[in-house]
Amino acid sequence: MDFETRAIHAGQAPDSATGSVTTPIYQTSTFAQEAVGVHQGYDYARVANPTRTALEECLASLEGALHGHAFSSGLGAATSIMHLVDPGDRVVCVNDVYGGIYRMFSQVYEPKGYRFSYLTPDGLLTPGALDDTRLVWIESPTNPLLGIVDVQAVAAAAHAAGALLVVDNTFATPYLQQPLALGADIVVHSTTKYLGGHSDVVGGFAATNDPTVAERLRFLQKSLGAVPGPFDAWLVLRGVKTLAVRMRQHCDNARAVAAFLREHPRVTDVLYPGLPDHPGHELASRQMRDFGGMVSFLVESEQEAVELVARTTVWTLAESLGGVESLIEHPYRMTHAATASGPFASPRNLVRLSVGIESAGDLVADLEQALVPQAVRSHG
Ligand code: PLP
Repeated sequence: MDFETRAIHAGQAPDSATGSVTTPIYQTSTFAQEAVGVHQGYDYARVANPTRTALEECLASLEGALHGHAFSSGLGAATSIMHLVDPGDRVVCVNDVYGGIYRMFSQVYEPKGYRFSYLTPDGLLTPGALDDTRLVWIESPTNPLLGIVDVQAVAAAAHAAGALLVVDNTFATPYLQQPLALGADIVVHSTTKYLGGHSDVVGGFAATNDPTVAERLRFLQKSLGAVPGPFDAWLVLRGVKTLAVRMRQHCDNARAVAAFLREHPRVTDVLYPGLPDHPGHELASRQMRDFGGMVSFLVESEQEAVELVARTTVWTLAESLGGVESLIEHPYRMTHAATASGPFASPRNLVRLSVGIESAGDLVADLEQALVPQAVRSHG
């Protein structure tokens, strides 16, 4: 079945007990057993819950995966994946990642003896770059600079080195890009973002086709306990039904916003893989269905960036991304503050946009007024 159909039906047959068309929220912590160990597949809700099972089956289907695991947050999923490797192991990470991932790697795992190297998208493909590596962690597009990593080539290099490749597919979503089909071993999501899609839930997800990895992740999910509650699982299930139509609108609006910013005299650079002169444009055209809803841009100074993000009215100044509403933020001081003291600080004059599905005209008009400096507005 096609993506749009699976997004609505995979894992979600009408409830066998009542005929309920939508998956019930099984708000229970435990399940009755007929005799010791005799039950209908569920015993305790940290281990499994039917609402969560429906979500896991649906998202696994969308990623083309045999096995899916839902978590309480994207970082909960990442924590569980990091338990696939051991202190002393080397992890290679792309050098532009969500600040919370960098904080986890540098402040939680590095002090425990895990070894990390951060490489550019091209650096990952330098011969020998992945020698002595257990795990490679990438995002594509990257956050917040919208770099494009060649997933297929990195997968081949990782496997040649005996490493597992993890792809954070949060920015692209399975509608635009399916990393497992490109050779990744694990695909991970913050379902807080496009999959939930309405800025009303925090969640995470990881999927794989490798039965050994799947078994270990299932064990880690119940043993570490970073699981979503049934209502949160249900919110993501509901959100994902409209993923395809939302993503099409996100992409169209992002194109319009990027085209506007590109012509604006106060914008010094626009980072958006949909622009033909973006260094990753050709690669993104091959490995993605479209270019996504995230756009970053540079202005003259940090001061200007900080002031302009506070001047918008349709765009909300907030962290996060992927909801129906447009958000604007300053990565250096907000989502990527954890990288500020490290070698890969987000540029101070960078603004990141999560382009929502409102009218593109309203979004552009609001940016246009926000880009006019205060002095000009009060005198002109
Ligand atoms: N991965 C990416 C690309 C993100 O942007 C985020 C959050 O902003 C995460 C992972 C972490 O997800 P969560 O906030 O759900 O823990």
